[in-house]
Amino acid sequence: MTLAKSQSLKNRYKGAMLGLAIGDALGAPVEFQKRGTFEPISSFRGGGKFSLQAGEWTDDTAMTLCLAQSLVEQQGFDPLNQLEKYVTWLHTGYMSCNGKAVGVGKTIYRSLIRYMRTKQPYTDIVHEKFSGNGSLMRLAPVCIYYAKDMEQCVEYAKLSSKTTHGSPVAVDCCRYMAYVIVRLFSCENKEEVFSEKFKEETWAFFRNEKLHEALEPIVCGTYMEKSNAGILSTGYAVHSLEAALWSFYHSNSFEKALLLAVNLGDDADTVGAITGQIAGAFYGVEKIPESWKKNLCKYEMIDTVMDRLIDLMEK
Ligand code: MG
Ligand code: MG
Repeated sequence: MTLAKSQSLKNRYKGAMLGLAIGDALGAPVEFQKRGTFEPISSFRGGGKFSLQAGEWTDDTAMTLCLAQSLVEQQGFDPLNQLEKYVTWLHTGYMSCNGKAVGVGKTIYRSLIRYMRTKQPYTDIVHEKFSGNGSLMRLAPVCIYYAKDMEQCVEYAKLSSKTTHGSPVAVDCCRYMAYVIVRLFSCENKEEVFSEKFKEETWAFFRNEKLHEALEPIVCGTYMEKSNAGILSTGYAVHSLEAALWSFYHSNSFEKALLLAVNLGDDADTVGAITGQIAGAFYGVEKIPESWKKNLCKYEMIDTVMDRLIDLMEK
């Protein structure tokens, strides 16, 4: 690989990971708020349900850092070690920005309690009603670490969901999003991922282990025709993924994609975190506004974990 190519990939990997944290921090002040009822977000702002400072982030980023740190320390995928780190985060605020586990989701909580009791790697919470976005929100490290092998990456995206979210819908949202993100890492033109050709390649890729039917409209790109009013930004994994792809499609920069996403309200931090991974994988870290990087809580900690993860995967 040429140096220029490797630098450009590194820029994209960092974009996905940092995009996640920035989306989380942008959306956190308006999480749980109904669309149109708040002063639109245009940059970091303090407040919200958890009374955060401007630039602070929540569970989405903290769990992502736990997962990234586990991949680095274990030099690969170790679900028990990931769960140990999630539990440490829950109890002590490990990898958090303010020493506290902020915003833990219901399914995550139940799965961590289950893990502490059973010490088994994969959750038995598989019912469709537990198809939240808690495994999508932290996917970037898996996409980066396994970016060189799509089959492996999609398989580990599945397993990384199953530590906390075992429902086939939640799992398949992760499998599909991993596929999209890895394709975006080397994509030069955004329109490629919205093309007929991309759709056909996606169906072909997933022909042996088909995606859940709830993903079909997303793969078909029905969101491209939807207006703001047609997009839901709830914590249901399918809604959050659709909202993120919609925000990416209907914008022409990292900044605009993220602002579209978080201003949808409701599960704004997580829709922001998912959009940040997707938009960051395409635009790269260099296109993220400097003021957002500078004012993100614990930027150096995130940057250090990212560098170690990328160094390891490049070996
Ligand atoms: Mg959160
Ligand atoms: Mg959330």
